[in-house]
Amino acid sequence: MPLQNTLRIVPETGGDPRVRVFRCLFAPPDESEHLEVDAYALITDRYVALLDTLLCPEDMAFVVEQLHDVLPGRQLLVINSHADWDHAWGNSYFSHNGQVSAPIIAHSHCFTRLRSAEAQAELDEYQQRYAVFQHVVLLPPTITFTHSLTLHGGDLTLELLPAPGHHADHIAAWIPELQLLLAFDAVERPIPIIGDKEGVQPMRQTLEHFLSLHPQRVLCSHGKTTTVAMVEQNLAYLRSLEERCQDFLHRQKPTEDEITQGAALINYPFREVIASMPNLAEDAFYTGVHDNNIACTLQFLMTRLDK
Ligand SMILES: [Zn+2]
Repeated sequence: MPLQNTLRIVPETGGDPRVRVFRCLFAPPDESEHLEVDAYALITDRYVALLDTLLCPEDMAFVVEQLHDVLPGRQLLVINSHADWDHAWGNSYFSHNGQVSAPIIAHSHCFTRLRSAEAQAELDEYQQRYAVFQHVVLLPPTITFTHSLTLHGGDLTLELLPAPGHHADHIAAWIPELQLLLAFDAVERPIPIIGDKEGVQPMRQTLEHFLSLHPQRVLCSHGKTTTVAMVEQNLAYLRSLEERCQDFLHRQKPTEDEITQGAALINYPFREVIASMPNLAEDAFYTGVHDNNIACTLQFLMTRLDK
């Protein structure tokens, strides 16, 4: 079986030696699309906080091994940014009867999602397709919150904040002493992924809130960027989507079929979205994401018009 995922440490990306970045490449042999996703370890006086558990327990065995120098004397805490497969399927490595037991902290809706029949069905499907998921067992978080949660690590503080839009359970992590924001999937290069029509407004508000924190560095799970400019670009994109969809709806109401062809419908090709971004080529995955973002925005605006 060819190698499907590889994991490595990405030095310097965290901007401080207490922030370690782990990058997982998922490259299934039967597909041209590759996915890269990052997880983080934050090393404080009191805690080692592991933010996201990537694809499988084996990923976490690697990460924990890399932290052998900092774990003695510190409590290990695990945090899920949200329940998606590329962020939380390594959770079972930390089960109470596993090798390394640790509390798993997340939004309460992440608990619901990881216990859902849909999540199990998705796992069953992935396990049939890819060997890398064979040891994954869905494990929901053990400590949940809805508003915000602050971990006082001594030298560093970790503030966990709801950051909905990509998903209702999505959170971000803010480390004020470093002015570092871990945005996970709320920020993405080239464009963020809106979960559904309910996510349109929250996603914009999430990005506005991020900017109000005045971060110096912003890390996101996909796209390898570290700059605040990416948050600004994502926000400008969402605003432009809303404006163009608004203009379109003033002229006509689309049919259900037309809504799925978003970019052509509102005349906003993906190529135009990435025109100002260097080193980006047209990409089938993000072209589809763009169409879907437009569909979500149109549906959101239409429900508002109906009221
Ligand atoms: Zn993701």
